[in-house]
Amino acid sequence: MLITEGIVIRERAYGESDKFADVLTKEDGVIEMSVKRARKINGNSGSSTQLFAYSKFCCTEKGSSYIFNSAEPIHIFYGLRKDYEALALACYFADVIRSCITPAKCRPDIMRLLLNCLSFLEEDKRPKAMLKSIFEMRLMSDIGFMPDIVGCSCCGSYEPEEAYFDMNGGRFVCGDCLAGEPDRDTIKISKYVLEAVRHIVLTDFNRLFNFRVSDKTQDVLSVLTEKYLLIHLDREFHTLNYYRSLTNIK
Ligand SMILES: [Zn+2]
Repeated sequence: MLITEGIVIRERAYGESDKFADVLTKEDGVIEMSVKRARKINGNSGSSTQLFAYSKFCCTEKGSSYIFNSAEPIHIFYGLRKDYEALALACYFADVIRSCITPAKCRPDIMRLLLNCLSFLEEDKRPKAMLKSIFEMRLMSDIGFMPDIVGCSCCGSYEPEEAYFDMNGGRFVCGDCLAGEPDRDTIKISKYVLEAVRHIVLTDFNRLFNFRVSDKTQDVLSVLTEKYLLIHLDREFHTLNYYRSLTNIK
């Protein structure tokens, strides 16, 4: 028997009325839960297995998956459904988590990161671009791709006027140390972008969402964090393309 808190990050129907739910848990990574007669369960147990429900689950282990017994909802992120851009971004977050959070890579902070991002999205309390950058860069740091962002990798300079961030190497050099032309996976960043990346990667979780950047800084930060994630996870996400198509319309 497993009793655990988790967030439903995907659901898919099978058979007459059953479904599978992928659930991000604090300690066990993403687990697959089979929910029998899902479409006939009413009340709390029903809503607790919907997409983006944060619930306390009781289930039984069976091989590599789990059989759902019961659940109590803690918070259902209904508000996401009122804003299709917020929902699209949440689906991208869920997709990324499913692609990289194995039990070995799971740390309690990852569930906390997703919960916080979903809350801020639902309440529209932070710009979406900022939440996306925080999610991408903090997650990558948490699963073993933390960039070395403290000083220039050649001279150690802490606060250069401009810097060049190397996506593949996960480090930066200052303008003085750059040798030749930057390659296509190296991006020129201002000291404000550098500060923002440092904040996301290094700050204590309790202060993670407490910063502000200008639109210009956010634009570069958005390119950097997205590309950094895609390069290191080495794949594409349809949900990201969909989110992009929505934000490009404006
Ligand atoms: Zn330097």
